[in-house]
Amino acid sequence: MRYISTRGQAAPRDFEGVLLAGLAEDGGLFVPETWPSLSPAEWRALRGLPYPELAARLVQLFVGDAVAPADLRRMCAEAYGGFGHPATVPMSQIGPRTFALELFHGPTLAFKDVALQLLGRLFDHVLARRGERITIVGATSGDTGSAAIEACRDRAAIDITILHPLNRTSEVQRRQMTTVLSANVRNIAVEGDFDTCQDLVKAMFADAPFRTDMRLAAVNSINWARIAAQIPYYAFSALALGAPDRPVAFSVPTGNFGNVLAAWAVRRMGLPVERLIVASNRNDILTRFLSENDMSMRPVEPSLSPSMDIAVSSNFERVLHDALGRDGAATGAAMQAFRQTGTMPVPPAAWAEMRGLFHGFSLSDAGTLAEIGRLWREAGYLADPHTAAGTAAAALLAPEDLGIPVIVAATAHPAKFPDAVERATGLRPPLPTRLGDLYQRQERFDVLPADLATIEAAVRGHALRNAA
Ligand SMILES: *Cc1c(COP(=O)(O)O)cnc(C)c1O
Repeated sequence: MRYISTRGQAAPRDFEGVLLAGLAEDGGLFVPETWPSLSPAEWRALRGLPYPELAARLVQLFVGDAVAPADLRRMCAEAYGGFGHPATVPMSQIGPRTFALELFHGPTLAFKDVALQLLGRLFDHVLARRGERITIVGATSGDTGSAAIEACRDRAAIDITILHPLNRTSEVQRRQMTTVLSANVRNIAVEGDFDTCQDLVKAMFADAPFRTDMRLAAVNSINWARIAAQIPYYAFSALALGAPDRPVAFSVPTGNFGNVLAAWAVRRMGLPVERLIVASNRNDILTRFLSENDMSMRPVEPSLSPSMDIAVSSNFERVLHDALGRDGAATGAAMQAFRQTGTMPVPPAAWAEMRGLFHGFSLSDAGTLAEIGRLWREAGYLADPHTAAGTAAAALLAPEDLGIPVIVAATAHPAKFPDAVERATGLRPPLPTRLGDLYQRQERFDVLPADLATIEAAVRGHALRNAA
């Protein structure tokens, strides 16, 4: 399996190269050179497999020879064995034909665990074979740092340092990170805000000697391996509801476009996905694009669904590349213009093609609370604010009279956003019992000033201690 860059200037790579590189050298994102595709009979044969087994079979199509099938099966079994539900990604029916695909039963209660639990193991496996180590550094406003920490904890070839802004995350968010006491995990509370943390991480990557010396890496959603690891749950849910013999629609709460891209991928691989709904909050660049071909950046506004508070959706480039006939030069030019002017010029034909499949929807904070309340009253279902954008979008854009099942990606556990859920329903969702002692666990983190030399020294010291 080979991968090409969406901007057409970087040399093709195999899966291992793509996993370790993240971004392509020409600034583009890696996509499969040719998409694996399954016949209806091949899809039917996968129906009913336990989730870890299905995941291993589908991810193998993208991994190629980089990892032996027996190793990948073991990694999937380990990654998903720790989930808090025997089905890994169970579905709850919340309407006559509407289903919530619960992707939040992993260690940090959000969908990113599904990909990252496997990604940490893939990194470790490949690095061990090469006799190499890497250092992951990241900044978090609270929400995504814990998924990266849980993915990397105790992995032999990885050190991870996560910066969070001192006293500016919720206590649950901080504790989900700082109570991981593994030797290869370091948490730093920076005296500053989230932007300060993010600037420090950028500065570390821009410091070429430091970056090379420490073998800095990131686990963000532009890494193709993350997309590959999200494809199986869309296949799993569609197969369970009758695909390939019955079409389905997906509604996906969207920020960086990574999760909905994986839903698009199963269609590319031959499953009958009739409609893809892109649900957003008031940060509605994708809704504006899909309704009037207006892909223009606006400042990010905070909302009740913080993981969808984005100005741009980086993974959109992968779908654009396809809609432009896989023309790397055209994709690169559009992305370049976007960066320079803040508006992406998308040719009308490509826009029309995307609009035939993707439907955009954005939900206000008031609408989010109303939707959480409606789901609770009508279906007895507690949804988090991100999931609520997906269910509200599904009700409007894939109505029951469409006649096909609609699968909504439920991306976070309601207990992760208890304040919004309580405002909407009067109920405060408790943490699952496996996390119930979070407030009693011991914490470990360092408080450091927002100074690049100090932070770099801390990252270096941490990595050296573990390599020894
Ligand atoms: C990250 C995240 C999203 C957005 O996913 P993308 O892949 O960035 O589109 C939605 N909901 C939750 C809870 C998340 O953590």
